[in-house]
Order: sequence, then C-alpha cells, then structure tokens
Amino acid sequence: MTELQGKVAIVTGGSKGIGAAITRELASQGVKVAVNYNSSKESAEAIVNEIRENGGSAIAVQADVSYADQAKHLVEETKAAFGQLDILVNNAGITRDRSFKKLGEEDWKKVIDVNLHSVYNTTSAALGDLVEAEAGRIINISSIIGQAGGFGQTNYAAAKAGMVGFTKSLALELAKTNVTVNAICPGFIETEMVMAIPEEVRANIVAKIPKRRFGQVNEIARGVVYLVKDGAYITGQQLNINGGLYM
Ligand code: NAP
Repeated sequence: MTELQGKVAIVTGGSKGIGAAITRELASQGVKVAVNYNSSKESAEAIVNEIRENGGSAIAVQADVSYADQAKHLVEETKAAFGQLDILVNNAGITRDRSFKKLGEEDWKKVIDVNLHSVYNTTSAALGDLVEAEAGRIINISSIIGQAGGFGQTNYAAAKAGMVGFTKSLALELAKTNVTVNAICPGFIETEMVMAIPEEVRANIVAKIPKRRFGQVNEIARGVVYLVKDGAYITGQQLNINGGLYM
C-alpha cells in the first residue's frame, strides 16, 4: 500500500511517450488511471491491459481534449468508472514546427488548441471534483521551449509559455483550497519524436546539455509522482527536468 493507493488520475495523451510513463508510474503507486487518447486506441488499450494484469485499475477514454465537450466527457467517464477525481495531468501535446514566415494560421491554431486550449477545457471540467478531493493536484506538462524559445516553434513556445502563466494564476486562485497547480518543463526527452531527429543533429543537441544526455521518460514521470505525493506546499512552480540545459 502506498499513500496514493485508491486515488484517481486522468492523464491526457496517457498512452504514448511521456504520458505512458506517467500513467505507469502513477499506476505503480496504486493510482486508478483514466488513460486518455485521441487516435492511439491500440496503445491505450495495451497499457490499460498491462496495468490490470499487474493488479491495478485503469480505463481508456477517447477524447480530443481540444474540444470542451470531449474534455467534459473524459471527466464524466472517469467519475463513472472510479467515483472521484484527485489528479489531472495535462500532458497531451503536438508540434507543427515552421519558421514564422511559413507558419499558416491553421498550424498556429491547431498547436494552441491542442496544447493550451485543452488545458482550459480539462481543468474547467475537472475543477469542481479536484476542489472536493482530499488533496487535488493539477500538473501541466509544459516544455523548455516555453521558457527558452525554439527556432521554428513560435506556436508551440507560445502554447507552452501560456501553460506556465495559466499554472501560476490558477495556483494563486486555488491556494486557499487543497488543490496545487504546477508545471513540469521537460528538456529533450528520449521519445520517438526526439529519436527521429537525424543522429548528427541529436549529437549537437546532446553536446549542449550540461548532463550530456537526453532525459528519460521515467524521469518526468517521477517528477509527477513527487508533486502528487510530496507537493502539498509546492504550488505555482515550474519543475525543470532538463539536464541543466535551461536554468
Ligand atoms: P508523443 O509521444 O507525441 O505523445 C503525445 C500524446 O498526446 C499522445 O498520447 C497523443 O495521443 C496525445 N494527443 C495529441 N493530440 C491530442 C488531442 N487532441 N487530444 C488528446 N490527446 C492528444 O509526445 P511526448 O514526447 O510524449 O510529449 C508529451 C508531452 O510532453 C507533450 O505535451 C509535449 O509537448 C511535452 N514535451 C515533450 C518533450 C520531449 O522531448 N519529448 C519535451 C518537452 C515537452 P494520440 O496518439 O492518441 O493522438
């Protein structure tokens, strides 16, 4: 038994990459997890089966969280399955990298909608339950790009920086409740997306990281568990897990 046993979490985009690691880490602590997916039904069902085989509880819920009604559905399905909601991890994200000159309005809007507007949607739908929880937690997976900027990433950087401003403001508003609101800002993490970068370019990136390696998905997931478990007095913060690349 861990102190998180029986708590209930939603992890948006919880079946792949960093989200899958967060799902697994929370489930290993006895947390019941609603694994949200948009298009990756198979990987969502696979991770749910894996958790159940290991004695845990999980459900897969399809929802495009950039739409308010679907985010609401995600929260309702979670409550119907598990009866409560304690933890919301806003992890779903996409990139549509283009230099600003070539960035069309569609790629601007899509990235803002999926990365930032989704946070408004899920938080609005979940807030009432999180405030009622014994220790509600909202964790927004932002990015080093929202802090330092990124070439060809005005849309993504704006969304990720927006998540940080949202986090701080909501943390202030909720400080009188039992809900904490924090952001995690990962650096370069060894996911499919990063490993798809040509080897030479990757080597150049690694050379600039003080710790001289990419981060692992588990290192982000353990940051989430830390904030959930030991974070009662931590709110409005950015937890930088980036090997020292941005300080
Ligand atoms: P990933 O492997 O591409 O996974 C993205 C996840 O987001 C997928 O599970 C995807 O689900 C979900 N998603 C996308 N659009 C969605 C939508 N409209 N509604 C619901 N879910 C949606 O990416 P990742 O590298 O693990 O990144 C996870 C988060 O960490 C993102 O927010 C990303 O910006 C952030 N981040 C990543 C890095 C890195 O180095 N990888 C660094 C800093 C920050 P489906 O497949 O079902 O669509």
